[in-house]
Amino acid sequence: MQGDKLSLQFLGGAGTVTGSKTLITVNETKVLVDCGLFQGLKELRELNWSDLPIEPSEIDAIILTHAHLDHCGYIPVLIKNGFAGSIYCTPATKELTEIILMDSAKIQEEDADRANSHKYGGHLKCKPLYTRVDAAKSMNYFETHDYSQWVLIDHHIKFQFHNAGHILGSALVEVKAAEKTLLFSGDIGRKDPMLLYPPKRIEQADFIVMESTYGDRSHSNEDVKAELLEIINKTIDRGGILMIPSFAVERTQELIYLMHLLDEEDLLPRVPIYLDSPMGVKSTMVFDRYPEIQDIPKAHADNMFSIIKYISTYEESRSIVADKKPKIVLAGSGMLEGGRMLHYILNHGGNVNNTLLFVGFQAVGTRGRDLQQGTRSIKFFGEYHEVKCEIHSISSMSAHADREEMIDWLKNFKKEPTTIFLNHGEPHQTNAFRVKIESELGWNVEIPKLNEIFEL
Ligand SMILES: [Zn+2]
Repeated sequence: MQGDKLSLQFLGGAGTVTGSKTLITVNETKVLVDCGLFQGLKELRELNWSDLPIEPSEIDAIILTHAHLDHCGYIPVLIKNGFAGSIYCTPATKELTEIILMDSAKIQEEDADRANSHKYGGHLKCKPLYTRVDAAKSMNYFETHDYSQWVLIDHHIKFQFHNAGHILGSALVEVKAAEKTLLFSGDIGRKDPMLLYPPKRIEQADFIVMESTYGDRSHSNEDVKAELLEIINKTIDRGGILMIPSFAVERTQELIYLMHLLDEEDLLPRVPIYLDSPMGVKSTMVFDRYPEIQDIPKAHADNMFSIIKYISTYEESRSIVADKKPKIVLAGSGMLEGGRMLHYILNHGGNVNNTLLFVGFQAVGTRGRDLQQGTRSIKFFGEYHEVKCEIHSISSMSAHADREEMIDWLKNFKKEPTTIFLNHGEPHQTNAFRVKIESELGWNVEIPKLNEIFEL
């Protein structure tokens, strides 16, 4: 209605790539788009422990763009602190979010236990940010909707999801409130994602809130499949083991798909391929259940996962780790910050015939980044270990659109928006993208600061 009051407040993902939370207020109604965890540097992580500038009980609903922790990982905290509304997302996002929240809770419980076992007498007991019980309870608040269905939150505000092409179930969110259209990109995928449909082209919005993770960069155009095959062949020919640290959602399934295609062409050497990651196995099952939102031929969708052997139990994992025969292993964690891959590196990283292949972005300060940059002695399980195996990186596998792809997507808009807000980026990435938008499109760009409010 005319005279309705509408505002946006950026409670996270402002000046950083984590902690995404954007509050829409229309009159008395408050809706949070994403509810992400701050990750990385200590001063960011500490934000997860400080109060939001708004009472969680005053928030009426959460709209979730996708299942990554930096978008959903704060949900259990919000519920513990009084949020009691609905959490809207797509069906696949709900399933993946449950896997990711349970894993996050487990890591936090383990970290708190470790801190407590090292604590000095008399200090307060360390508590996890949330437990697996909290994470499981959160799932009761979820309500799922497919793409292109208008959902009425109340008579002030409605929204619909559109495919974002970033990870399975990911969505752009189109919101209508106070006679205005707001478009939230969430994380936006590549122009031509490997497994998913390209991000939906949107033609109109009064305000856009857009991520800027790769606002300063273009992805390279390497032939990922050919490169993967070359690395597989080289390693297996010399009797080695190919170890691929991999993120459980999307990247793992992309690798499986690539190996399936190579197998169909009869190019893959006859060695076992293992997915040794309980989270990777669970996520892969979710992919298997949603062929309709993946852009791959049915024959491939039906068969692709049969090339891989799933390892879930520790006993199985231990015997695969101990075995020195040639094989391909996908295991977490993607940046070697934990997970079963460390056991493979402990047992096989010292052998020059083996290969460690990075297929995802390695953040500063992680073991993965150190190895990528030439460090050959890394500390884990309390000791330093020599890594003598070959190390490779395939850098172009990304779930995020690059600068040119984001600009191309913005060019679909028929009319210039009043304002485009750039979030979800490090300051240099966001600023570079602002310059690009101003010079190519001439639009009005705002880069919100943490907790900044904009009246629309
Ligand atoms: Zn994401």
